[in-house]
Amino acid sequence: MPAAAQDKTTPENAPYPSFKIAEGLYYVGAADYAAYLLTTRAGLIVIDGGDGPTGRQVVANIRTLGFDPKTVKVLVNTHQHFDHAAGLAEVKRAAPGAKLYASAADAPIIEAGGKGDPYLKGPQWEYAPTKVDAIIKDGQKITLGGVTLTAHVTPGHTKGCTTWTFPVTVAGKVRQALVHCSSSVLPGYRLVAPETYPGMAADYERSHRFWLNAPCEVFLASHTRFFDLKAKHEALKGGKVDAFVDPAGCKAYYQASYKAFRTELEKQQKATTAK
Ligand SMILES: [Zn+2]
Repeated sequence: MPAAAQDKTTPENAPYPSFKIAEGLYYVGAADYAAYLLTTRAGLIVIDGGDGPTGRQVVANIRTLGFDPKTVKVLVNTHQHFDHAAGLAEVKRAAPGAKLYASAADAPIIEAGGKGDPYLKGPQWEYAPTKVDAIIKDGQKITLGGVTLTAHVTPGHTKGCTTWTFPVTVAGKVRQALVHCSSSVLPGYRLVAPETYPGMAADYERSHRFWLNAPCEVFLASHTRFFDLKAKHEALKGGKVDAFVDPAGCKAYYQASYKAFRTELEKQQKATTAK
């Protein structure tokens, strides 16, 4: 089974201790495949499921923190790749009342367990499918118990890649948190005709325009290495209560990401004209 092939332990899905990032915001993911928990007076919100093993850790971590996974009401996803979407099935199994929201382009692929991705093709990329309960549009808000998430559809890495923002209180101050989908150009992605999917390069360009000016004070992402969770967690444990407040780090990340995208695009354009 493809899902079983994804079940092996890797450095990315190795367990990581869950902890409180800010008021009502907790880290519940694995070492690299990230997942976040938001607590509200009307139930819980989970952002991303990681891969299969991460999904089981997310459920266990919610319990360890003293919350009941059955009270998860809202489940959202950054993108349909196995390392963020396979674990959604595990979370939904523990929280049958949770409503899964996904973008129009990524939803059918989540529902097909990874089948239909224009680039990651084959059983090694497939996973347990999860039913999507509602489609979210760019700019749409989801509110639960006084907590509001805003979806920003930022395609490129996948056609429905979604970046999430929400306000959160850190050390008594309201800050804008951002969970970055992904802006990486996978090795082998074609940004020139025939593009990996039609319009991919234009999508990356447009998404970077959003990211470069996005409200981002608490910088979080689908992979912990994108924002150096470990170093920030160490600083937090050392007493730096606002260790995760990092607007400069967020800006620098997106500037470097845009540069990397442009460099790759120009490289591919040159290779095409040279022929
Ligand atoms: Zn991905």
